[in-house]
Amino acid sequence: MTRVRNASKRHQPTSDVQIAAMRQLVKSGAKDRPGTYRMLSSTGEVVYVGKSKRVRTRLLSYFRCAYPEEKGARILREAETIDWDYTPSEFAALLQELRLIKRFRPRLNVAMKRDGLHYAFIKITKGAAPKLAVVRGASADNASIYYGPFVGAQRIGEALRELNDALMLRDCKSELKMHFSDQQELFQIFPRTPGCIRHEINKCLGPCVGGCSVSEYDERVGLARAFLDGSSDGPMEMLRGKMETASERLEFERAASYRDKLSRLEILREQFSRLRFAVENLSFVYTVKGHEGPDMVYLVKRGVVRAELDKPRSTWQRAKMKKLVEDIFGVTEKPTTSVPTHEIDELLLLSSWFRRFPKEMGQTKQVC
Ligand code: SF4
Repeated sequence: MTRVRNASKRHQPTSDVQIAAMRQLVKSGAKDRPGTYRMLSSTGEVVYVGKSKRVRTRLLSYFRCAYPEEKGARILREAETIDWDYTPSEFAALLQELRLIKRFRPRLNVAMKRDGLHYAFIKITKGAAPKLAVVRGASADNASIYYGPFVGAQRIGEALRELNDALMLRDCKSELKMHFSDQQELFQIFPRTPGCIRHEINKCLGPCVGGCSVSEYDERVGLARAFLDGSSDGPMEMLRGKMETASERLEFERAASYRDKLSRLEILREQFSRLRFAVENLSFVYTVKGHEGPDMVYLVKRGVVRAELDKPRSTWQRAKMKKLVEDIFGVTEKPTTSVPTHEIDELLLLSSWFRRFPKEMGQTKQVC
């Protein structure tokens, strides 16, 4: 780790003299090896974290910005210190960058990051009367359950509306107070009227106006989760039944509307099955060649690095790794598209890594 620090404490843009000192430090100290770097402000705040497979070249590029509005120039104006660390490989640098960003949450990374917003997730909120919503980007909200990531937020949104309607789940503001039918004492004090049209037209159970009990609502949420997990087609069967009934009654317009709803849910189901396939396929032992150091082995399960270690060279090290593999891969988990919030970024990182470098799959070994 290397560092240059200006003794003065201030919040003004970094002076040209200090920027020149940082450049000199990089020129004299940084090597062209994979690694991560951190830009720190005069108060020691980590304002930006980056990675590169050639740290020296990358850092020097910051000092060549021709215009003050360029990203590199903006970062340098906020930084008075540069730290860097080398990693065994570019892959290791990517992982370390992600972990540093999670740890420090540098404000310039947050301001400049756009990648995660490309993806959509289905979020099930916690609390009374959970609701399903499409959100963009991974969130640090650990109180909710996320399904995804998906591309095509609009189509996912349309499909989710059908799912909400089919199961009569709410889609109103999270903070709206719920009054379940088994909360009688509240009704005696505050008689309530329907809060919105969805309850009146049978598209919501109406947990806000005592239209259902807690368990009735939870049962519908369970059906939604089972559908999103891929273990049940309940909502589609409900729609199919309604479509057939409408057909038998010669209500063809209504039947066609149910058919359209079904096909929107079908799209959602297909996206989920593709995602499940991707998540389940990102489970293996991945060996990465070391740069001026030992090769590393990563134990990846469902798109997340569960353990990393030097490639074993002795019998003792091999036995240790075998035990680790058994501990991690020996536990069978139900296939699901629900990804814990803290794992989403790593899943995205790994899937994008193997998409960019498909030959790297040749360095992986499936564990049965
Ligand atoms: S009926 Fe009540 S709970 Fe349902 S969506 Fe409308 S406001 Fe929300």
